[in-house]
Amino acid sequence: MYVSHLECPKCSLTYESERLIQLCVCGSPLLVRYDLNKIRTVFSKDSLLNRKPDLWRYRELLPVKKQEHIVSLGEGMTPVLHLKNIGPELNMPALYMKDEGMLPSGTFKDRGAAVGVSRAKELGVKVLAMPTNGNAGGSWATYSAPANIRAIIIMPKDAPAINLKEVSVKGADLYLVDGLISDAGKIVGRAVSQHGWFDASTLKEPYRIEGKKTMGLELAEQFNWEIPDVILYPTGGGVGIIGIYKALKELQELGWINDKMPRLVSVQSTGCAPIVKAWEEKKSESVFWDNAKTMAFGITVPKALGDFLVLDAVYKTDGCAIAVEDKQIIKAQQMIAAREGAFVCPEGAATLAAAIQLVKKNWIKADDTVVLLNTGTGLKYPQTVETNPPVLQPDDSISI
Ligand SMILES: *Cc1c(COP(=O)(O)O)cnc(C)c1O
Ligand SMILES: [Zn+2]
Repeated sequence: MYVSHLECPKCSLTYESERLIQLCVCGSPLLVRYDLNKIRTVFSKDSLLNRKPDLWRYRELLPVKKQEHIVSLGEGMTPVLHLKNIGPELNMPALYMKDEGMLPSGTFKDRGAAVGVSRAKELGVKVLAMPTNGNAGGSWATYSAPANIRAIIIMPKDAPAINLKEVSVKGADLYLVDGLISDAGKIVGRAVSQHGWFDASTLKEPYRIEGKKTMGLELAEQFNWEIPDVILYPTGGGVGIIGIYKALKELQELGWINDKMPRLVSVQSTGCAPIVKAWEEKKSESVFWDNAKTMAFGITVPKALGDFLVLDAVYKTDGCAIAVEDKQIIKAQQMIAAREGAFVCPEGAATLAAAIQLVKKNWIKADDTVVLLNTGTGLKYPQTVETNPPVLQPDDSISI
């Protein structure tokens, strides 16, 4: 393993990586740093040729030391689809979508959980606790099961039924709170300090970002180390976009890609758009968003711990932040499903809605290579589609 230390992106304090750690003393999330000079001598693009198509193919850039600590369900190397029907119509002939709906629990949260749980296991964690809007709980329950870690998951009581069921069938301890994810977070905070459990809340441990980083590594490899012009990402806690940015920086330092960065676009819903507001006001941090509400519950995060890192990635890449309405999300979801065959989650659909607006503003140009990140499968969100097919009797025939 090539981790050299943990580093605070806010106050630059460093920490030794072989003991369990949560946040920096200053309250900021910590980032994992590697000995890239050493990695450069042992890891090359050719090393990838004979490796399995899962995210552990990039193990030199991941934080798990011993193979035996890895818990894996085959996660990673999700397809990149060329949207050949809708792209040209929308004036984006090079429009692609990376489809994270193919992962074991149906969302990209599996990446963070696979790496986060494996590393937690390696560092001796027996019990972890986390608040969640649903999908992260599903993923951490998924990987805690084979890792023999007890997972305590707390979610709002109106979280989708499927999330309750997947957490419970996977053997985690499930609690519901009569409140929001922030209320669940407070209960977790009290529980971990009382019982000495590991706090697996978003960005309160350093390894989840490393798992999500693999989306950036895969994109680079899938585009043959030629980075696309624009990547649109549905942003909640922001771990995905922070991870993609970190991955590309590391690949640049390794010399695997050139200096060009994609313009990173942080997509939110008009019902919860703290990052967009901060970006519009040229701020480096966001402000808590009151009365957050959108059907895209995965991006209902009123104030993200890593907001300053998301904004930094957007500013440094000449990207932007943009909010879309729920009704545009539904329209985009139908468009991708009916024209491309992919049933995407509302968060993923939001990226198409955003791309359409950015084309209108001439921010995305026809010769840009554009990548939408679909973060999960629409099959996990059956309530987003309404349908009322006619009911036939066995003897009826169909008229055209
Ligand atoms: C959690 C989630 C997001 C937001 O991801 P972050 O990395 O927290 O910004 C987007 N889409 C889905 C489906 C999610 O579950
Ligand atoms: Zn710090």
